[in-house]
Amino acid sequence: MNNIIDLRSDTVTKPSQNMRLAIQAAEVGDDHSGEDPSINRLESVAADFTGKEAALYVPSGTMSNLVALLTHCQRGDEVITGSESHINNHEGMGAFTLGGFSVRTVTNDFRGRINPSDITDACRQEWPRTKVICLENTHNRCGGSAIPKSDISEIAAIAQERGIQLHIDGARIANAAVALETDVASLVADADSVSFCFSKGLGAPVGSVLCGTRDFITEARHNRRLVGGAMRQGGVIAEGAYYALTHNFDRLAEDHENAQLLRHRIEGLPGINLDPAGCDTNLVFFDLDLEFDGDAFRSKLSELGVRCSGTSKQRIRMACHLDISKGDVERAAKLIAQTLGEMEAESS
Ligand SMILES: *Cc1c(COP(=O)(O)O)cnc(C)c1O
Repeated sequence: MNNIIDLRSDTVTKPSQNMRLAIQAAEVGDDHSGEDPSINRLESVAADFTGKEAALYVPSGTMSNLVALLTHCQRGDEVITGSESHINNHEGMGAFTLGGFSVRTVTNDFRGRINPSDITDACRQEWPRTKVICLENTHNRCGGSAIPKSDISEIAAIAQERGIQLHIDGARIANAAVALETDVASLVADADSVSFCFSKGLGAPVGSVLCGTRDFITEARHNRRLVGGAMRQGGVIAEGAYYALTHNFDRLAEDHENAQLLRHRIEGLPGINLDPAGCDTNLVFFDLDLEFDGDAFRSKLSELGVRCSGTSKQRIRMACHLDISKGDVERAAKLIAQTLGEMEAESS
């Protein structure tokens, strides 16, 4: 039996032998008192990576966004975010229910972009007051698209004019930088805060980081404690994140090539409508024609050894990551073709 090809997410990667060795050797201390040397080193490197003054290690990307919003806003303030954003769709609306601020959504187009004039219209000076605009890059639900710096700058200017903060949910900002052939720091230069995940394409087992000014991070550190995210000897996991950032960034282009290859191989198969957003990074999306039941497709394909996810019944997502080789992609493409062929035969 061949190994399972797990394309459900880039979060499914397991720590490599070398990462485990680094974790085993991690120096640790009590992070509550700022005494964990591995966390301190990780935060310092993450701040450099994003070109911000300071950084805060947190257990998850969801907590990172939550802490960012709790730090930028007061109860009664308003947050603007994209209709298809992770914050608006996959975080239990936690920031809003816990923080007591309201959310105003603006439409993301199929590539995750937001029309700047929609943002201008959505900003409110009072009652409630818009405090922060959130952008997502790469845009998960919109094809994993990389949002170019020019888009960010245009929206940052709108925010700045009005004294509004700009937060980037950059769970996969490393993928965006690689796809746009730039570095992360320049891509997020116009943002007041940015969050990114070590546990996605970078391949660490646990953790995300929130970056911003020194004052912002000092305040965020209090809010992390408030939501129960302060850790003790967290260096054990931070060392995996450090290893991921320092070893796995340069190889992300490989995941993007594999995603392109997968998209290319399944193009034209019966029932498959490739996402018009294209494939900038490591995520491949397609919609299945209604004759091919999405749930049946997922379970048949899974029986053949390929797992995938999706954002709705007929909308399938496949993620390439560091545990997926080119050979895996070739095999997955054949098994997708086989699955669709069998489904077609059964229905006729
Ligand atoms: C995964 C993800 C998050 C949340 O990260 P978790 O570590 O799963 O909580 C936030 N935003 C985006 C865009 C994501 O893809």
